[in-house]
Amino acid sequence: MTDIKIPILMYHSIESMPKSTIMRSLHVPPRRFKFQMWLLKMLGYRGLSLRELQPYIDGEKIGKVIGISFDDGYQNILINAAPVLMKYNFSATCYIVSENIGTSNTWDQNKKITQRPLMTEDEINQWLQMGMDIGAHSKTHVDLTSVSVQQVQKEIKDCKVDLEKKFKVQISDFCYPFGRFNQIVCNIVKDSGYLSATTMLRGRVNSQSDSYQLPRIPINHRTLPHLFLTKILTKYEDRRSTTT
Ligand SMILES: [Zn+2]
Repeated sequence: MTDIKIPILMYHSIESMPKSTIMRSLHVPPRRFKFQMWLLKMLGYRGLSLRELQPYIDGEKIGKVIGISFDDGYQNILINAAPVLMKYNFSATCYIVSENIGTSNTWDQNKKITQRPLMTEDEINQWLQMGMDIGAHSKTHVDLTSVSVQQVQKEIKDCKVDLEKKFKVQISDFCYPFGRFNQIVCNIVKDSGYLSATTMLRGRVNSQSDSYQLPRIPINHRTLPHLFLTKILTKYEDRRSTTT
């Protein structure tokens, strides 16, 4: 196997938010996102959805590629990210919470985190029509390590079934809500027919990476260009994975 180092970027919301916003770091300003995508293009990278990235992770294809993922399905990514991705012929995966389509990030409500609109069914269809992809982020964005096995199965399986029925695309990529998982949760994802699952473990994907525990690189409001490059091109993030 070749020694691969594939970064998968983790974004949430692409929007400029006021200074007072709780967890403002989750919102990357559109101009910063634009610059990051331009940088990737200049460096010769092709940004890919998890589905398109899989053959590179498996070592079947070789190329200068980078995964791009958005958690939760915020409406602002359709407006602020999709046109930029299209411009550079990149694709990306957006992980959808199937019961929250067209609502907001209600799972954050008790933490007083700002509520932002999530894409409606029609908007997710637009996202798909723009050449982007979707994956599953459970039915209700529950911490899967804190509920019964039956509930975990419902959250993981039903999300896939619901999304496939609604959007007529195969759903093969999962993302653990809050990055929380354990071996039981992992096995259920695998048994439900998914081909990959992303976590909040940090690092770049290498040939030893477990497809159901893929590490990612968090990009947030404070990720300035020099840090962005360091995260992608150096061992900076890989070193952060050893403690988890
Ligand atoms: Zn999430």
